Amino acid sequence: MFDVNTEQIYVFNCEYLYMEGNLFTYRAISLSVTMKRAIVYHEDYNKYDLGTDHPLIGDKPKNTMAFLKEKSVLSEFIIFTPKKATEADLLKVHDPSYVEHVKKLSQTGGWLSEDTPAPKGIFEVASLATGGSMFAGEKLFEGYEVAVNPLGGFHHASKGHSSGFCFFNDIAITIEYLRQKHKLKRFMIIDLDVHHGNGTQDIYIDDKTVLNLSFHQDGRTLYPGTGSVETISREEATGYTVNLPFPPGTGGASYRMAFEEIVPPITRQFKPDIILYQSGVDTHHADPLADLNLTYQTYYHLAKSVAGLSQETCRKLLVLLGGGYNSVACIKSYYNIFCGLLGNDDFLEEEEIPDTDPEEVKNTVQQLKQYLSDYWSL
Ligand SMILES: [Zn+2]
Repeated sequence: MFDVNTEQIYVFNCEYLYMEGNLFTYRAISLSVTMKRAIVYHEDYNKYDLGTDHPLIGDKPKNTMAFLKEKSVLSEFIIFTPKKATEADLLKVHDPSYVEHVKKLSQTGGWLSEDTPAPKGIFEVASLATGGSMFAGEKLFEGYEVAVNPLGGFHHASKGHSSGFCFFNDIAITIEYLRQKHKLKRFMIIDLDVHHGNGTQDIYIDDKTVLNLSFHQDGRTLYPGTGSVETISREEATGYTVNLPFPPGTGGASYRMAFEEIVPPITRQFKPDIILYQSGVDTHHADPLADLNLTYQTYYHLAKSVAGLSQETCRKLLVLLGGGYNSVACIKSYYNIFCGLLGNDDFLEEEEIPDTDPEEVKNTVQQLKQYLSDYWSL
């Protein structure tokens, strides 16, 4: 009745042979798929804190873990303690002078950029966050099909400079680590944070082994200002950078429509060896830094779709929780992402907020399809 392979164990809870009229029958009362899932967490994660007046506060990973535990979701994951990335790991992506620069700032305290203070000790903490993503990525080669780093997804860090609260690009460093160690050939990034992943784009703009897909608020209205729909990479990597900018006020219905039109067909055609999902929730309507209007339930549906695509293609899903700056809304939104990953219907819901300009979203989706028409069937 079901295929059983070495990677998945199907567990049946059945009521056998109960009487129904005159017929003996049996009924499967529940069917659950036991899948190995990992989450990495370190008690020093709370030291990734950019100050009391800064939107990035340190206790988010800890509060997320506590909420997941309270909601009985954490027990579906094996918890691992990550180690710091080494300097050699950082240098797989970053320039030596940049790594030195961050190290020096970290000794004295200072500013990496106008929006990014560099508190003392940040070099070690940012290396730990990076190590967390690498560690979680490695778990996908030890029989785990989903692995989460709650302090990951620092997509604004480029090779030699950074801003946007990011020091090291853990997404790219993890890709380079896995490329070297496991000889992977096709990496897919699904970056749904409200900000464009400009650092990751800079790193992979010429690399067709990395399909970098970013959904974000239009750069004309939000930091970092990049990620226009016509940016689809160049030369032989054309079509491997995909940007979908949304107008301010976009709600869940339009966002999900756009996701379904673009992400599943590209993923199926690209056939990734691994999916890296930057699942930032600063798209939520209550987020203080941006202007999209996604609701809790949207995160459930998006995460469920991404998890389904991973199951269909590579069965290796690395989830990096990314941005989110309303401390209540982001914990609840992350929880719904976990519900989506688990297919757990016990997700939180709130009233939908109508899209302010659904027509513009439709037009941008059509434009993107046009730009990509030589590369993907959409
Ligand atoms: Zn963000």
